[in-house]
Amino acid sequence: MSVLSRPYFHDEQAAFDFVEAIIWPTGPVCPHCGCTGRISTITPNAAKRVRFGLKRCGDCKGQFTVRMGTIFEESKLPMTKWLQAIFLMTASKKGVSSHQLHRTLEVTYKTAWFLSHRIREAMRSGELAPFGEGGGMVEADGTFIGVEPGEPITRGANHKMKVLSLVDRTTGEKRSFVLDFVSAKAIGEIVSANLSREAILMTDEARHYVKIGEQFAGQGHTNHAAGEYVSRFNPLVHTNTVEGSFSIVKRGTRGVCQHCYKKHLHRYLAEFDFRYSYRVALGVDDSQRAIRALQGVVGKRLTYRRPDGGGASPA
Ligand SMILES: [Zn+2]
Repeated sequence: MSVLSRPYFHDEQAAFDFVEAIIWPTGPVCPHCGCTGRISTITPNAAKRVRFGLKRCGDCKGQFTVRMGTIFEESKLPMTKWLQAIFLMTASKKGVSSHQLHRTLEVTYKTAWFLSHRIREAMRSGELAPFGEGGGMVEADGTFIGVEPGEPITRGANHKMKVLSLVDRTTGEKRSFVLDFVSAKAIGEIVSANLSREAILMTDEARHYVKIGEQFAGQGHTNHAAGEYVSRFNPLVHTNTVEGSFSIVKRGTRGVCQHCYKKHLHRYLAEFDFRYSYRVALGVDDSQRAIRALQGVVGKRLTYRRPDGGGASPA
């Protein structure tokens, strides 16, 4: 027996039961009228084309499955494959490429690509409580990731995609943002919107952070240019946590998204932030992490504009 022998990875009914228990912890909810009481389950029947998980609402007479209003909607892929994909993507520290999903799940590459982007969307943080509440320390630092395909390779880091990340040192959670330009204004807006005023901001010596830090209860700076990675005056003043997290993202994006377009980069970052925020060191195991991702599938329907002009724009 192994994790992979669990019934919900192989049996469609078991997969629906598992997902329903997570999305509807207190019983099914009709997505048409919001009613919860008089909902019956229709027995699956391939001959009569009755799908797994089909429910009927006694109030509005509408039919639905747990897929409705989630990333699973508009997908004919069996729920067992969805669960396999979610487990693979949430359990692997560096992520799983669409090519790997394509081979492992035996689905087309195109399906694997859509699947992985939808799962990334489920991992995107829904609740955005400010970091550093109660006077906690928050590290902020920027990095450069990859090169947008088609961008000319210039000297320095101009051609790379710019990312700002925040790590709440108390909870261990991480949040990342794609920057169009590295400017005091752009960084200031992100930091202001995501930190509690009670927070203590930890950054390197970049001058714009000093001004940004004035709005918080406190701030500390290291002097990287002078080779200082932990303050000589206070060992709590450093940005080593957030910098350490960048190495995982860099190793992961190098292997997984060789062709990471900037318009999709925020989803890759959400994926890495998710695994970092629910990592083993914080007491989260692989199954719990998969369940966290499943809790995020609601309200994250994601459709892409197709080359032929069909389909909706990204939500
Ligand atoms: Zn209803």
